[in-house]
Amino acid sequence: MIYLGPAGIPHGAKSTRESMSILKERGLNAMEVEFVYHVNTKPETAEIIGKEAKKNGIRLSAHAPYYINLNSKTKETVKKSRIWIYRVAELCDIMEAPIIAFHPGFHHGMKKEVVERNIRRQLNYMLRKIQKEGWSVLLGLEVTGKKSAWGTIEDVVEMCKDVEGTIPVVDWAHHHARLGGGLKTKEDFEYVFSKYEELGNDVMHCHLSCIRYRDRGEIEHQDLGQGEPDYGPGLSVFKEKKYDIVIILETKAKDDDALKMKRMLGL
Ligand SMILES: [Zn+2]
Repeated sequence: MIYLGPAGIPHGAKSTRESMSILKERGLNAMEVEFVYHVNTKPETAEIIGKEAKKNGIRLSAHAPYYINLNSKTKETVKKSRIWIYRVAELCDIMEAPIIAFHPGFHHGMKKEVVERNIRRQLNYMLRKIQKEGWSVLLGLEVTGKKSAWGTIEDVVEMCKDVEGTIPVVDWAHHHARLGGGLKTKEDFEYVFSKYEELGNDVMHCHLSCIRYRDRGEIEHQDLGQGEPDYGPGLSVFKEKKYDIVIILETKAKDDDALKMKRMLGL
């Protein structure tokens, strides 16, 4: 089944808890709760959000702060990154949102093996704490859009094979931008799915938008239909999958774009 919804609260909602019934009314069934600038939600509020989501059939996920960098040269930043992820993980456990999306880290001119060793070490460290606390959540490693950031589809899939408790977050626009326009044909979409399927997961969590980019990768996200890529060639590939796909629209048009994508998929 394909689930669709916005990143952040839909138009007309003033809060996350209010969003769930609005999404249901609009015919949507997913939402990514945005903790991208701060993590201030109280556990009591998370509980209400979770109940509202369940009542309205909304599949929740969360996005952790943009400032996270598990490969920072500054120890303090790495420590803060872990703390942010713990706080989001606890809220996710309460809300019953099974995936935290985040951008794992930047290269800082280091060798790929070193970057991956550092990121892997931090992931394992955090997963021990997550397991100890009994938080039911997976760390969602996002395919990133800037070449300075770690995270091609191949790298993310390999890391997830290696570290139990992680799952890729396929950001289609980021993949397109990183490759300087990597999504053009049906085969381009099929390639990403085939990479993902090496993991044998029963769900794919992904982000979708259009994007502006240059040779170094991502500049900014754009609304659906406002730029590249054209998702047309990939639509039939999304539809033929037998496992669940959660599509989060990371655009300014949010729920309007989620509905646009729903129509494009003929759902
Ligand atoms: Zn992201």
